Amino acid sequence: MQNYAVALIPEETIQSILAQTDIVDVISGYIPLKSAGGTFKANCPFHNEKTPSFNVNPGKQFFYCFGCGEGGSAITFVQKYENMPFVDAVKKLAKAAGVTITAAEYNPEEERQRRSKSRLVQLHNDSAAYFHQLVRKSPDAQIARDYLKKRGFSLESAERWLIGWMPDNPAVYLKWAKEKGYSGRELCDSGICNLKDAQNPRAGIYVNWRNRLLFPIHNDYGDIIGFSARQLINDPKTGKYINTRETQLFDKSRIFFGLNKARRPISKEKYAILCEGQIDVISLHEQGIQNVVAALGTGTTAHHARLLKRYTKDAVLCYDSDAAGHKATTRAFKVFVTEGINVRCVTMPEGEDPDSYILGNGVEAFKKLLDDAEEFFDYKLKHATATTDLNSIKDRSALASDLSELAQMVQDKVAQEMIISKLLPISA
Ligand SMILES: [Zn+2]
Repeated sequence: MQNYAVALIPEETIQSILAQTDIVDVISGYIPLKSAGGTFKANCPFHNEKTPSFNVNPGKQFFYCFGCGEGGSAITFVQKYENMPFVDAVKKLAKAAGVTITAAEYNPEEERQRRSKSRLVQLHNDSAAYFHQLVRKSPDAQIARDYLKKRGFSLESAERWLIGWMPDNPAVYLKWAKEKGYSGRELCDSGICNLKDAQNPRAGIYVNWRNRLLFPIHNDYGDIIGFSARQLINDPKTGKYINTRETQLFDKSRIFFGLNKARRPISKEKYAILCEGQIDVISLHEQGIQNVVAALGTGTTAHHARLLKRYTKDAVLCYDSDAAGHKATTRAFKVFVTEGINVRCVTMPEGEDPDSYILGNGVEAFKKLLDDAEEFFDYKLKHATATTDLNSIKDRSALASDLSELAQMVQDKVAQEMIISKLLPISA
């Protein structure tokens, strides 16, 4: 049923519509779905049947009927169910997702951008492989190997995560990139390099990182789109981690570190663990706890929440037990609850992060922390009552109004009433 007009909707637009769309929401708008162990079942709308063989998989975002073989994405479903052309189904979902379809005609500029993006992905993939080879083989990379060893990572784990090293003398990398045929402009567009003088491209370029460990950042289709670069020699003048700046490829408000590896485990475990750092993610994955991701940098955004919702509606936050960690937890709760994601919280022992804790205490001890994760309001109440003087009427009423404001954000009315009743002792 595809026609000429299909080519006129850019693939990226289609991907972005699918990224903003939850197939379960779409299909359950047409037929009743029954939850069945991580997937959903229904009587197939495309053939006559009495026992359901129609399956919807939220993790993979597709449907399949074992009876008649119909299957595909949310777009395919709408197209077939409504018996409408592909383009109309795309437009319908675009509208629901709030995505604007811009290119109605062949657009040379968009075509150029598409090519330039795929070239930048290629540059990232090639560079990541090169940086990783340096970690394995370069005599100069001993400092990187020592660091990995100190953190308890084998070369095999470094290979699984394609951990690399940017030499102390980045000219080595520039020479390699030039030989590979990458231009200075491409290196700057990728965010790996910058112009020495923004006004004068002829003044040359420089590499953004020196003597740093490089963690490739993937989008959820598995392309490498950026790097997170960690200091190997302590230097308070620069950040411990420096991520790729915003580029055509990389928008940190839409990326979870580790999601490309965690997608299936999240669907299987039916919840996602959110940590603060990339090292936590790698460490937990390597210890066999794989439904783990981290937002890059400070905050979780509404984009993050919608992305997560494609795989689960249950998040367990594993943030540090300091003031910054508590703040981040409340911020994340606000974003997630607005999207209908339930939030539970792990209380990390003071001074520990998931990486240090699992290395020091073992997998079972960490799983115990997960089992003890509390509903957000229990966690919040426990922490708030420990840090607030409940005898002070002023502090107490400030806390009560703070908590009640958060409770108002809970969409499920039954859950909200239960929370409000829990908060009563504070408000009284
Ligand atoms: Zn069927």
